[in-house]
Amino acid sequence: MAEVTFHFHGELNDFLPPWWRDAEFAYAYNGPQSVKHLIEAAGVPHPEVALIVANGQPVGFEHQPADGSGIAVYPEHSGVAIEDAPALRPPLPEPVAFLTDNHLGRLTRTLRLLGFDTAYGGDAADDLLAESAHDENRVLLTRDRGLLKRSLVVFGYCPRSTDPRQQLFAVLRRYRLLDRVEAWRRCLRCNGLLRPVDKAAVLDRLEPKTKLYYDEFQQCGRCGQVYWRGSHFGELERLVVEVQSRRMNDDSYHLQPIGFIRSPLTDRLAAPNQGYEGAPDAWLEVDNALAAGLQGIAVGDEIIVVTWLHQSRRDVLRLHPQWNEANPLTGVFNTRSPDRPNPLGLHRVRVRAMAGNRLLVGPIEVIDGTPVVDIKPTLPEVTDN
Ligand SMILES: [Zn+2]
Repeated sequence: MAEVTFHFHGELNDFLPPWWRDAEFAYAYNGPQSVKHLIEAAGVPHPEVALIVANGQPVGFEHQPADGSGIAVYPEHSGVAIEDAPALRPPLPEPVAFLTDNHLGRLTRTLRLLGFDTAYGGDAADDLLAESAHDENRVLLTRDRGLLKRSLVVFGYCPRSTDPRQQLFAVLRRYRLLDRVEAWRRCLRCNGLLRPVDKAAVLDRLEPKTKLYYDEFQQCGRCGQVYWRGSHFGELERLVVEVQSRRMNDDSYHLQPIGFIRSPLTDRLAAPNQGYEGAPDAWLEVDNALAAGLQGIAVGDEIIVVTWLHQSRRDVLRLHPQWNEANPLTGVFNTRSPDRPNPLGLHRVRVRAMAGNRLLVGPIEVIDGTPVVDIKPTLPEVTDN
């Protein structure tokens, strides 16, 4: 018997049993074996692997690890890259094209709707799917891990979710396609390219209302299917909006204030550290456009107000709690300091009065003008303080 120590990173852990995830584990086998064989025996299909490091050196799939080797395995987009690492496969074809298996019909449809070349394998046998993906240089999309492990498969990805919408966005992210959407370009039925067609040429194929309301038409160059803005357009618009918002949210998170605190406290250093240390009441003015979100909140309720402590320092990682040198230096995440990388404040307060979109709440220890980013009810069985 030989043994290696594996450590799989990132989303490769999705293929492992819980006790092997995000950890080093010993893997025993009858040697010698290629590292590709060992990775797949542990459960991870080779098309999901982007980088293999054995005893600190990047290696290819054919590498045969020595007994006792330590092997780290990384997925795409792991952030880990090693110069001169052997390529595990040829470069991804540009533009990328997909082949889906018969369980991914709805994913196929949405990929086509967004303009991506997506062949549908339908009921084809695994042999044929692997062969077509290989011959046509397509990325094989399948949840069948056995199929992905076939050596003929060069490019492949296993959508982890069974939900078609989540599958779509996982594929768009994996292949960096959020910026590449070209809607209204492919036939949903056969993947053929659409081209503009004169209304007169398709008139005999249109319903009376379509004839009446639409003047621009496209036709599939392969199967002849006719498309117009009424057909599938709502679905497409919703998808495109979601793509846009996910693009924006990919790299950072934007918080919009829902309102602001109007308080007699104006000096940050004079503000007490905690509400119970003699803080005053303050008005919370919620943006008029969001006032409907206050429905159900009543005078006397206890709520949690989440603020963005806008005057805080965001570069503090260790401090003396309560700004008192006598207290030992403490990591910021072990304190309630307002100075922290993301200066969110949590305030458990009582609603004293309400007037339209304004709530008088207290006691609350934040200064005038502090942005409020959320309001939540407290739960009786949970201690928030
Ligand atoms: Zn078609």
